[in-house]
Amino acid sequence: MIQCTFDVFSFNEQKNKIEIDERKCVDCHRCVAFCPEQSISIIPNPTQYRSNSSWNRESIRNVVKQAESGGIILTGMGCDKPNYTYFDRLLLNASQVTNPSIDPIREPMELRTYLGAKPDMLKLTSTGETWEAQASALPQLQLETPILFSAMSFGSINLNVQEALARAAVSNGTYFNVGEGGLHPKMNQYADHLILQVASGRFGVHKGYLDTGAAIEIKIGQGAKPGIGGHLPGEKVTEEISETRMIPKGTDALSPAPHHDIYSIEDLAQLIQVIKEVTEFSKPIIVKIAAVHNSAAISSGIVRAGADIIAIDGMKGSTGAAPQAIRDNVGIPIEMALASVDNRLNQEGLRNRVSIIACGGIRSSSDVVKAIALGADACYIATAALIAMGCTVCQKCYTGKCPWGLTTMDPVISRRVNPNEATKRVANLLRGWSLEIKEMLGGMGINSIESLRGNRNHLRAVGLNERELEILGVRMVGS
Ligand code: SF4
Ligand code: SF4
Repeated sequence: MIQCTFDVFSFNEQKNKIEIDERKCVDCHRCVAFCPEQSISIIPNPTQYRSNSSWNRESIRNVVKQAESGGIILTGMGCDKPNYTYFDRLLLNASQVTNPSIDPIREPMELRTYLGAKPDMLKLTSTGETWEAQASALPQLQLETPILFSAMSFGSINLNVQEALARAAVSNGTYFNVGEGGLHPKMNQYADHLILQVASGRFGVHKGYLDTGAAIEIKIGQGAKPGIGGHLPGEKVTEEISETRMIPKGTDALSPAPHHDIYSIEDLAQLIQVIKEVTEFSKPIIVKIAAVHNSAAISSGIVRAGADIIAIDGMKGSTGAAPQAIRDNVGIPIEMALASVDNRLNQEGLRNRVSIIACGGIRSSSDVVKAIALGADACYIATAALIAMGCTVCQKCYTGKCPWGLTTMDPVISRRVNPNEATKRVANLLRGWSLEIKEMLGGMGINSIESLRGNRNHLRAVGLNERELEILGVRMVGS
């Protein structure tokens, strides 16, 4: 009873028994996991709604809810509709006979990845006997594996979870993006492994904030809710969050849909330039956009505006809270956006000037490998990291009652996350994925992740039509 944060169980003193209101159950499985007798199972109520092929349970339930409330249907996490996942239609190559495979355990295998603009040419200077390459003055992020933790703000997740992600980033030689909620002072100790966001709400953004951290990300859009802003309800704006975000306690934290100073690529260029000047050109600037219909043209403009890294967030990307209609119907899959952006930047001779981070629907090491073969340099993950810490994808993050203590600011429920255990589990996940990436690379006869980038020869597709193949730049299996 105490495990359920959604008040499904209550004790009826008059009847001296526990009563269950099953309509409140969100299928989070917390009670199942903690039942000492292993006697609880959660099954859909077969008589709840009479559905047919046109009107499923969800669509009927949503109409009923809105008829009662007159409001927007909110949800959390990412789009859960079965279509739109191209990764499952792509298969990887493996060496046979010629170009032999590489054994990643016994032979060198490089996953180290540098993110940031690369120089157009490498200057070599002669020392008489040898030639030495002149180091690039362009700031880079150095990753020991091509995976970073995507933006999760203080407020959308609690400090326990932020710290666990930052520590896992430190131990695995990668980065955690603290999102748009400012920087809690406790996070300063991880500064070298943090990416700090400048979003439309400008929460917690000041000179000291920009000086901290390894990179700055300007968030234009987010895959789970392209074109709309963010909303952290006043109930979640505690004393600590109000100080970190620099807003009054208990007030709604609203990030407007647009940046009110960005209406063109020139405006974006100005903001990038200002941040670069303020930070003395010492750190790469990331611009994050949602994957939308004209991502390729937008990305071309972003590179010309001076960004060092573009993060493209596909429609399967997650969030703490979004209108369900937006989450499930706006944007495009990351695979298509990524391939078209990589193509366009290559055609325009701009690809070297920027790195690409793919995100929004990366579920496994094979998704990472496929994304890199489609043109990404690295991938952001978020949902997978939360699942590693216990999330059961019940999609109720927006309620602030996360039963696993992750997306809640409630001081009591937050304690359900053991930061040490959470750090270990997330670090393990990254390690496991990295080992699998090495195995897949070895199988393809590749000894460096960089050699896979945009190398679509290593991909083949099943069940896609000619036009889809053309956009992805991938051939059918058997060809
Ligand atoms: S909401 Fe979660 S904890 Fe509560 S009854 Fe349902 S499955 Fe169990
Ligand atoms: S983070 Fe918590 S509330 Fe959100 S989907 Fe996972 S378990 Fe549910």
